[in-house]
Amino acid sequence: MEIIGVLGGMSWESTTEYLRLLNEGVRERLGGLHSARLRVATVDFAQVERFQATGDWTAAGALLAREAADLEAAGAALILIATNTMHKVYDVVAAAVTVPVIHLGDVTAEAVRHQGLSRIGLLATRYTMEQTFYTDRLRGHGVQTLVPDAADRAEVQRIIYDELCVGLVSEPSRQSLIEIANKLVAQGAEGIVLGCTELELSLTAADLTVPVFPTTALHCAAALDRALQARQTQP
Ligand code: GLU
Repeated sequence: MEIIGVLGGMSWESTTEYLRLLNEGVRERLGGLHSARLRVATVDFAQVERFQATGDWTAAGALLAREAADLEAAGAALILIATNTMHKVYDVVAAAVTVPVIHLGDVTAEAVRHQGLSRIGLLATRYTMEQTFYTDRLRGHGVQTLVPDAADRAEVQRIIYDELCVGLVSEPSRQSLIEIANKLVAQGAEGIVLGCTELELSLTAADLTVPVFPTTALHCAAALDRALQARQTQP
C-alpha cells in the first residue's frame, strides 16, 4: 500500500473525516487489521481563512506548496489537498512536488459522468461557487454547474465557516442547505455536488431526491484506488 499524504486542517473538522474514511476504506478493501498508511499535515485554518478573505492566494499557495513538499519528503507517494476551495492553488501545489496530487474536481466530475449526468448543482464556499477555478475544471470533463443565487451563496458560506468548520451541525442549517439544493434541482440540476469537504457532516444522500456527490468520500475512494493499485495489479 502506498503512503497517502493528506494536506488538511482546512478545516480539521473535515480532515478527521478524511482520516476516518481512508482507514475505513482500507479495512473494507483489505480486511483484518489493515489500516491506511498516511502522512498528515494540518495547517492553521485561521491563517488560511485570512489569506482567502484578503485574496492573498499567492501566500496561500506558497504555504500549501511547502506543506506538500514536506509530505513528499516524509514519504507520501500521492497527495490530497483536503479542501475543495484550496484547489484554487492546485497548480502551485502540484508544481512543488514530483508525486501526483489528486484533483478533487477531476474525481468529482468523473463520478458525475459515471452516473450519466452532465448538469449539477454546486454547494460550496463562495470562492468555489463564484470563481472559475473549480467550475472550469468540471466543465473540462463535460459537467455544467448551477450555483445558488447571491443570498443563498451567502447562507451556504455562513453555514460552512460559522458552523461546520467549528464543529457545529445544526438542524435549521441542514434544512436551509436542503432547501437551497432543492432550488437548484428545480432549476435543472440533475445531481448535487457537496463541493466543500465539511458539507458531508450535515447533508447525506437521503436528504435529497437526486444523486448526491460527497467530495470528501469521493476523494478518499480515489486515493485508495491509487494507493492500492500496485497491490491489486500484482498476480
Ligand atoms: N473545506 C472546505 C472546502 O472544501 C472549506 C474550507 C476551506 O476554505 O478550505 O472548500
